[in-house]
Amino acid sequence: MAHAYEALLAEVLIDEARLQRRISELAEQINRDYADCDDLLLLCILKGGVMFLTDLSRKIHIPHMIDFMAASSYGVGARQSSGSVRIDMDLRMDVQGKHVLVVEDIIDSGLTLSFVIKTLENREPASLKLCALLNKQSRREVEIELDYVGFDIENKYVFGYGLDYDEKFRNLPFVGVARGDIPPDA
Ligand code: 5GP
Repeated sequence: MAHAYEALLAEVLIDEARLQRRISELAEQINRDYADCDDLLLLCILKGGVMFLTDLSRKIHIPHMIDFMAASSYGVGARQSSGSVRIDMDLRMDVQGKHVLVVEDIIDSGLTLSFVIKTLENREPASLKLCALLNKQSRREVEIELDYVGFDIENKYVFGYGLDYDEKFRNLPFVGVARGDIPPDA
């Protein structure tokens, strides 16, 4: 029987083995960079970052905490950021004095992440670094310096491995391009 996602999938962009290899490399880098740190907090931006966070966390050997935050831009469709971002769910931990590493699924315009950064900076973490699995550099509207990047990708609508297609298929173990490069509500 054909899987339901197959009708929506143009191609597998990054298969499971490649994803996991790259995540291991990122974790090794993080293990080195934070080797002497005993106050590391991995802050996952929901919902898209959740698969990446759980795989990355299991590959990081130094003791660390995890917490979650949900943010969204609103007012327009899936493809366009409106520039208005809100925090839908705040994290529970106090970040003051902690070394915070933000874990995101994908950076597109950068508006969501830049709002999250401003919010966190006001809370005085000891340090704040950014880790994104996917980076669509050509879509950037605000400048953001990413400390760790899994893959630079073209401007295509992707889903799987945490990223949704109409809120579904986040559970796929690979990142795929949507057929016709079309987001669900276009
Ligand atoms: P930004 O604020 O950087 O424009 O948007 C980031 C958010 O937009 C991501 O966290 C993700 O939820 C969503 N997004 C951007 N590009 C894609 C994409 O190609 N596929 C999916 N499923 N979501 C995307």
